[in-house]
Amino acid sequence: MFENLSGRLQQVVKTLRGQARLSEENISDAMREVRMALLEADVALPVVKEFIAQVKERAVGRDVLQSLTPGQAVIQVVHEELTRLMGEQNVGLNLAAVPPAIILMAGLQGSGKTTTSAKLARLLKEQKKKVLLASADVYRPAAIEQLKTLAKSLDVDCFDSNATQKPQDIAANVLDFAKRHFYDVVIFDTAGRLGIDEAMMGEIQQLHALLNPVETLFVVDAMQGQDAVNTARAFGETLPLTGVILTKLDGDARGGAALSVRHITGKPIKFVGVSEKVDGLEVFHPERMASRVLG
Ligand code: GDP
Repeated sequence: MFENLSGRLQQVVKTLRGQARLSEENISDAMREVRMALLEADVALPVVKEFIAQVKERAVGRDVLQSLTPGQAVIQVVHEELTRLMGEQNVGLNLAAVPPAIILMAGLQGSGKTTTSAKLARLLKEQKKKVLLASADVYRPAAIEQLKTLAKSLDVDCFDSNATQKPQDIAANVLDFAKRHFYDVVIFDTAGRLGIDEAMMGEIQQLHALLNPVETLFVVDAMQGQDAVNTARAFGETLPLTGVILTKLDGDARGGAALSVRHITGKPIKFVGVSEKVDGLEVFHPERMASRVLG
């Protein structure tokens, strides 16, 4: 379990060799290294601080199992705690609603909402659901076209919205259409801006009220690093989120955003995006992510 650790954490394992019990003193150097490792993985500073405090509390006083060195014991506690904080087990989509079950997609522009909407549609189609995609991104007509093109490639229906309509009207029309045509699931893509702004938040709140979604998914780019905290906080305060999708994990990001976003929103990460392609969506595995974050 420890062979892939970064040099930093290997050092923890070495410096604690030969001690039988973990104490405040003997783990403080180790904790400094863990702290650096988490910051390097782009976990936000306040989250790192709180995390270290929790790990210390759990680790101090622990007897070191015969099979482990004290350093390994510390890393094990860190790994366990990371996994626990990220949710232990994968939580799937909840579609328990009178059909159509609505999935509302929220997040900044460029986070991967449109691509992820198509990925989810593909997944649900495979599960034999009758899926409708819809876009209310009236500020970027190209985004509506992008969704229509993706839908076509998947042979999934896409609601025929356009940039002259109001997002709220699109929502009402989509609901009506989906009911009349007996769709099981509607995936509703929304507009994002480059940064958080009041108009966007007000609009998505209204859409949420109109659509009454069973899932409100916050889509966030794993490459966002430290900024993920502010975005997650803003969306978490605006909407009753039910889950998170972390995109672009196929990039260099060590995945620290996973810990930050989970910590800030308190909501499970349900899926991760691992490629630009429509089949690049995987269920989230907290244990694997903990290993990735530790480096
Ligand atoms: P939106 O503005 O939130 O709707 O974002 P888009 O869905 O248009 O995605 C923005 C860019 O990120 C596009 O170039 C996508 O192909 C890309 N993208 C989305 N998800 C992933 C992913 O999981 N991995 C990679 N490598 N690229 C992604």
